[in-house]
Amino acid sequence: MVKISWDAGHAGFGVTPGKRATDNSMYEWDFNDGVVRYAMEALSHYENVSQFRADDPSGRIDVPLSERARRVNEWGSDLHISVHGNAGPAEANGIETYVHPTASKGNRDTALHIHNYVINRTNRRNRGLKEADFQILRTTNMDSLLIEGGFMTNSEELTLMKTNNYRATVGRAIADAIVTKFGLKRKSERAASQPTNIIRYIYTGGFAGQPLQEVHDYLFRTGHNFDAKRGSDGSVVFLIGPFDTGMANFKDAKNFLDSKGHYNRLLTPEEASEWRMK
Ligand SMILES: [Zn+2]
Repeated sequence: MVKISWDAGHAGFGVTPGKRATDNSMYEWDFNDGVVRYAMEALSHYENVSQFRADDPSGRIDVPLSERARRVNEWGSDLHISVHGNAGPAEANGIETYVHPTASKGNRDTALHIHNYVINRTNRRNRGLKEADFQILRTTNMDSLLIEGGFMTNSEELTLMKTNNYRATVGRAIADAIVTKFGLKRKSERAASQPTNIIRYIYTGGFAGQPLQEVHDYLFRTGHNFDAKRGSDGSVVFLIGPFDTGMANFKDAKNFLDSKGHYNRLLTPEEASEWRMK
């Protein structure tokens, strides 16, 4: 059994100060969480792999790094992967992956293998494999790496990082690299079959100005159920649903948001009720 642990850097919803796009259109966690979800989903179709997520998957609590490392060490992971979005000068771009300066050759080989998959699949600039004394790398006992999957501070990359398509590309690249690294075998189709109709909410935000008006008009026109909240930065987020994901009204809402390039993410009923309580 190969044990892979994950953590999405920081928390979402403005919980971790400063970790957001400079125009407030995305929290860093939104990207990190999306990549981790796509990667874990992709790996779930393989045999002999178990996975563990060390952060708060609802994004409401920024689990301290010491606690993340404690959980991962206790679980006894073989490989820990921390997913982040980068920040820097507006012109900085590309993807870089970090290992601890004391990392073994095996750890470095694994990190470079995963990094190369992500570079090849995304075609972003290759900033290389780097070393840093990051706490999460220093305090986890197993092979570990931290991937910075693009710069939120670069307008071109921010646009990509807000899309599920880019998050899926990065997440599935990491998963496929793990598959080849550990020689994992895909589960039979029967075992991998999933229910098609599940209940989900669509979370989307933060809107202001013309996009806010458009989304608002769409919601009233279609009669979807929704809740709205205004964030501390003045932008508005919506929780739309519940939907049966097999139904046309779900596909319509999802297509509308995707076609406009609006960031959106699916929440389980449990995540939706947590959002409402906040
Ligand atoms: Zn980060």
